[in-house]
Amino acid sequence: MSKSLRPNAGLHPDSLLAHAGGGFDPATGAVVPPIQTATTFVRDEDYEPILAGHIYSRDSNTLYQKTEKLIATLEEGEQSRLFASGMAAIAAIIRSVKPGGTLLAQSGIYWGTTLFLRKHCARNNIALVEADASDLEAFRDEFSITQPDMVWLEVPSNPFLKVADIPEISKLCKRRNAVLTVDATAATPLILKPLALGADLVVHAATKALNGHSDLLGGVVTTADPSSESWTFICDERTNAGAVLGSFETWLLLRGLRTLALRVERMNANALHLANFLETHSNVETVLYPGLAGHPQHDLAKSQMTGGYGSLMSVLVKGSKGSALKVAGNLDVFQRATSLGGTESLVEHRYTIEGEGSGIPENLLRLSIGIEHGPDLVADMDQALTSL
Ligand code: PLP
Repeated sequence: MSKSLRPNAGLHPDSLLAHAGGGFDPATGAVVPPIQTATTFVRDEDYEPILAGHIYSRDSNTLYQKTEKLIATLEEGEQSRLFASGMAAIAAIIRSVKPGGTLLAQSGIYWGTTLFLRKHCARNNIALVEADASDLEAFRDEFSITQPDMVWLEVPSNPFLKVADIPEISKLCKRRNAVLTVDATAATPLILKPLALGADLVVHAATKALNGHSDLLGGVVTTADPSSESWTFICDERTNAGAVLGSFETWLLLRGLRTLALRVERMNANALHLANFLETHSNVETVLYPGLAGHPQHDLAKSQMTGGYGSLMSVLVKGSKGSALKVAGNLDVFQRATSLGGTESLVEHRYTIEGEGSGIPENLLRLSIGIEHGPDLVADMDQALTSL
């Protein structure tokens, strides 16, 4: 006979993460959960599912459910849904805006989201307005002119690291019943909890720090209100459009989550240390990082974020595109690759990707700070900048 385990309710999120997916299941008693590979589930003689709700793995899978429950707890939300990538999650949310509706989105956010918003809204008769959400007064004006059905924020934004005021923008949204969505990928749920600040939905590319090992694509959306119209749509969309995360990826994600708290702690510390160093370097024009006292929304970031400011930053190198590319080329520890949130530090010349007309400065290098020994990152940046 299996003994029951006391529930882990009340534990600090770091402790829940350390045990992610294991020890909760009296059926197996496994410290680490098994990979659930079955696509279909058996019914009994009366044609009832043996395990309630388990019929087909596009609808449900115990491994998704464990992971979703953990992420919902981290977010201080009610329910989460995993998707096959960050963009699959983002697309499902954006598709909840009906044709004829209006979407007010923060400008200068992750390029993939901007491209999807522009193409999807143009094809579906949705008015899309892009505005700088870090300028609260201007954003309020834009909100009252556009009267949106959904507001899309990215906090902090990628690659400009701007910080929008979630509680104030949430007040605007609530007055009009507009859905407020926050992409908090660059922060992680450990340092930013948009639902607690008034957002309706929070989305993460689990591809980034949640998994943290640059070896899977995944996305996750969380709500505080599972009875809302937008949540019903998103759940239907996941099942019916089929953008589910594979079992192996879900298992890898759970494994990555076990070390999230440690990774975030080290990444935050490394990032702040490096940002402080870069600010004083003679070949650096500007450092964009919300943890710096000189960042235009530093006080706001401090009031919204706990325990750090994340692992993403951008640096404007003194000089031209050539200077930025030379610094990137000189780096040894930082890998020249896109993405963020992995254990390894990465450098990316965003202008090469987004090109002319994108608004990305030619001398901008985006840095994703990993868990290396901090002084090695400082030394690598120093030699690359000094040899300009
Ligand atoms: N959101 C942000 C802020 C991102 O930076 C990215 C990717 O870089 C995504 C979403 C998309 O995630 P994915 O690549 O998993 O589709």
